[in-house]
Amino acid sequence: MLPPYRPEPFTDFTQPANRQAFEQALAKVTASLGQTYPLVIGGERIPLSDVFPSVNPARPSQVLGYFANGTAEHADRATEAAYEAFKTWQYTPPAERARYLLNAAAEMRRRKHEFSALLVLEVGKSWAEADADTAEAIDFMEYYARQMLRLADSSHLLTHWAGEQLQLAYIPLGVGAVIPPWNFANAILAGMTAATLVAGNTCVLKPAEQSPLIGYHVAELFWRMGLPAGVLNFLTGPGEVVGARMVEHPLTRFIAFTGSRAVGVQIYEVASRVQPGQKWLKRSILEMGGKDAVVVDETADLAEAAKGIVASAFGFGGQKCSAGSRAILVQDVYDAVTKQVVELTEALTVGDTSISPEVYMGPVIDQESYDRIRRYIDIGATEGELLTGGHIIETDENGYFIQPTIFGGVDPRARIAQEEIFGPVLALIRAQDFDHALHIANDTEYGLTGALYSQSRAHIERAMREFHVGNLYFNRKCTGALVGVNPFGGFNMSGTDSKAGGPDYLLLFTQAKSIAEKL
Ligand code: NAD
Repeated sequence: MLPPYRPEPFTDFTQPANRQAFEQALAKVTASLGQTYPLVIGGERIPLSDVFPSVNPARPSQVLGYFANGTAEHADRATEAAYEAFKTWQYTPPAERARYLLNAAAEMRRRKHEFSALLVLEVGKSWAEADADTAEAIDFMEYYARQMLRLADSSHLLTHWAGEQLQLAYIPLGVGAVIPPWNFANAILAGMTAATLVAGNTCVLKPAEQSPLIGYHVAELFWRMGLPAGVLNFLTGPGEVVGARMVEHPLTRFIAFTGSRAVGVQIYEVASRVQPGQKWLKRSILEMGGKDAVVVDETADLAEAAKGIVASAFGFGGQKCSAGSRAILVQDVYDAVTKQVVELTEALTVGDTSISPEVYMGPVIDQESYDRIRRYIDIGATEGELLTGGHIIETDENGYFIQPTIFGGVDPRARIAQEEIFGPVLALIRAQDFDHALHIANDTEYGLTGALYSQSRAHIERAMREFHVGNLYFNRKCTGALVGVNPFGGFNMSGTDSKAGGPDYLLLFTQAKSIAEKL
């Protein structure tokens, strides 16, 4: 019997014992760095001499591991191995599939800080952000295991028909190409993989180039639970080579992707083309970017609003799809909120997050991101008034550190108010009144998250209807969705309207078979 699902609690790092346990995990993980990792296809470990390094963005000279530069041929082999394994895995009973997830969740919980320590080193998360990422990975496994058991028992939803015995079975689709981003390198990767497997599909998992080490550890966790060979294949290499081929392959049945708008749109197009020998229309589950807004009206608790804006904009350096990169303030409160937001931002600590749980913000992920964010800061200087930040932070080890940066008086149609920057850059936008603020909030091509700070019932009710985002919050920050509590996913160019961590997510990974037997 399973206890009801409950989100994994976060670790309190003010407790010396927790702090010490995390330090030990960091030391343990650091001692094992620098290894070379193979591709794993059909249960076979395939080392390659052509490798790429995964590095610590706080100290890019520190190599965490070397990963195989897979090719399109490897993507073909992995897809074929997954197709072969699907022939038997698809008939594994749902309860047995759910047990793999529950066991993997239990094991990740036991080694929680090790997974979080990997996140600190590989993607520069603060301890608290890393802890939340790992907790979310555990949550996805626990939650989808239970959702599969619920879905497996769906026949009672049918209307009784005399003389026939009826069934409604949610059966798997086939081979899934699982393509996660680096920013929730544990949670999203583990979540999309868990959903794929528990629904009875097999997969080719290709982690982002920036975070293959955490990806390998998650895959290994599943293998250790005894998954049959070929059910979960692990592929590393350039997304535009191996990822692209996985998407294109005629034996791929569906794509579970989370990442940028540009790559998502490309996948959508390629996946829609029927390849020679392909017997189905591929399904694309695409979760993409955001240009999320925090709106503050004249009735709001301004201190709370300022705190929420700063946490939404600068948590994990703004590198969340849910990051509140626009703050839309009605003019009556614009100056007061701006002052508090700037003060709070200037108090944030930026640095190497491995040193202590008190470091709030680490580096951005890599040189490419660093350069892109710097370019947006230059653009921002022509589009608004620089209120704080705007500098790089020099370190001895050339980490990719950028100060939290705020531009004031930004036009709602300015580039820094419309394009996803994916870094610690916040645009403050002045609205004439609440109507105008709501219009500005909706005036983007994205629709992922949003928040309104208000004490006005009328404004809250109106925003509930008209603020067009997949995840809407009132009087709290627009980041930090919890599995099962805040099913997550956006509208418009933020994706294909899926809701990760929600009760209908597994429907995307299954197809319904309606069966009637005459009695
Ligand atoms: P990205 O699009 O650059 O890469 C995502 C994945 O796609 C990586 O594994 C990459 O290797 C792969 N890829 C790259 N080119 C490919 C191709 N041609 N074919 C197939 N796969 C390819 O994104 P990223 O930088 O890793 O992640 C950041 C983006 O993800 C941001 O835009 C962010 O908003 C978005 N994101 C969205 C959500 C959500 O739930 N909506 C969650 C997290 C991140």
